[in-house]
Amino acid sequence: MIYLVGSGPGDPGLFTVKGVECMGRADAVVYDRLAPEALLSHAPAGAERIYVGKKPKEPTMPQEEINATLVRLGREGKTVVRLKGGDPYVFGRGGEEALALIEAGLPFEVVPGVTSGIAAPAYAGIPVTHRHVSTSVAFVTGHEDPAKGTEDVDWEGIARGAETLVLYMGVGRLREISRRLISAGRAPETPVACVRWGTRPEQETVTGTLGTIADRIEEAKLKPPAITVIGDVVSLREDGLDWYERRPLFGKRIVVTRARAQAGELSRELEALGAEVLEFPTIEIREPEDFGPLDAAIRDLDSFGWVVFTSANGVAAFVQRLEHHGLDTRAVPRGAKLAAIGPATADALRATGLRVDVVPEEYRAESLLEALLDGSPAGEKVLIPRAKVAREVLPEKLREAGMEVVVPPAYETVPSEEGTDELRERLISGGVDCVTFTASSTVESFVGAFGEEAGELLSKTRVACIGPITADTARGRGIRVDAEASEYTIPGLVDAVVGLFAEPRRETAVPAKKDG
Ligand code: SAH
Repeated sequence: MIYLVGSGPGDPGLFTVKGVECMGRADAVVYDRLAPEALLSHAPAGAERIYVGKKPKEPTMPQEEINATLVRLGREGKTVVRLKGGDPYVFGRGGEEALALIEAGLPFEVVPGVTSGIAAPAYAGIPVTHRHVSTSVAFVTGHEDPAKGTEDVDWEGIARGAETLVLYMGVGRLREISRRLISAGRAPETPVACVRWGTRPEQETVTGTLGTIADRIEEAKLKPPAITVIGDVVSLREDGLDWYERRPLFGKRIVVTRARAQAGELSRELEALGAEVLEFPTIEIREPEDFGPLDAAIRDLDSFGWVVFTSANGVAAFVQRLEHHGLDTRAVPRGAKLAAIGPATADALRATGLRVDVVPEEYRAESLLEALLDGSPAGEKVLIPRAKVAREVLPEKLREAGMEVVVPPAYETVPSEEGTDELRERLISGGVDCVTFTASSTVESFVGAFGEEAGELLSKTRVACIGPITADTARGRGIRVDAEASEYTIPGLVDAVVGLFAEPRRETAVPAKKDG
């Protein structure tokens, strides 16, 4: 079975329930550029995902090949979702694909989608019809070049045929299209709006009139994909109907730094207020491949003079492993001293009921080293249960100082490197409005991902922290903090972020001329 499914215009919430059901059954999903990537998560993990592109002027896969792909997958007996932007039958060539399936004798069904020609205007504050303003609407392709002379679109008829005109494609042809509509009798003062990436967080709206819109678009450098709405209904936007763009964080790009598993709540709340959220999954935590070295250390725990923790994750992993062996924190010898690399790790240690003998003032391996070496007898055994891959400074220096150091992997952090390069570039170009930190560990892993340049990279954006400990950690790492939540919770952090953008940006004063 091949389902021709409309993905909706971009907001993943505008996908249909039936679409979700089809995705859940798919063996293969064939999708284009305008179908929101987020929807792919509705498909089973093992489903094949085939991108067929469709950027204007650079067809990633020609239509014949797309048809052939659908036919091939269908003949293999697969359940296929052909996921198409907006609605499959509105300027989507869905009809052509259905005909190709019929010709191949394959069964298909159509799941309509919310078309961008209605949704993008709605999110820009424009109802396509409105009593006493517009009683008819026409959906028109702007793709054809009116200068060619061989067009299918009857511009004269269209100009007179409907009060609201909704143009798909063709932002680049608006000068010629406007001219044609004006010469066919539409007033040059007719309001026009172009909505780019409608219903997505990056939605951008440019308004003008038939007489001015082409210039406005050039000035704003508005690129496809955009929907153009022509007609008096466009003015309703100014009456306050543009709810989407009025939300407090609209147009703000905010980075959420958390392990992917925990990202949910903060991202959802920020998005609900209009932000475009970039989840930066700094780390994923897993069991180490081999517990052998840690198990050996646990059996031999009494021989250690120091147990040193370099992260809260290390504390958790160590205690879990004790429990795995039927032990608890009482297994930690009385005579051993316990050290934590920083306040969050110390807190984690205390939370397990263990005392903390040493926490260095500065949150760095080097500072911990000084504290450890101070007054320790040579040859003392030091246990550092920590991440499989970590900075080597501490054990090396301790060994140099004559201590016997055991560093068993207690857990593995798999750095999600996927986002690092992209985020670095966005931070450098000033394309991020705010970076949030929900725990010291998120600061640490951010610094882990970007190293020395972390503070510098964050200098062009705003930084919001969930509370004073996280903020201190950030400052300790050379990161300037712009906002701290007054209530140390996710909603508190969200309030702090909103507060950052509610304040009008301070204008740089024009320097007064010096006398004389
Ligand atoms: N089948 C799609 C239209 C595909 S044609 C639908 O029903 O929406 C491609 C054109 O759709 C683009 O050039 C643009 O004009 C429009 N479009 C699709 N998604 C859009 C979006 N999120 N915002 C603005 N225009 C969009």
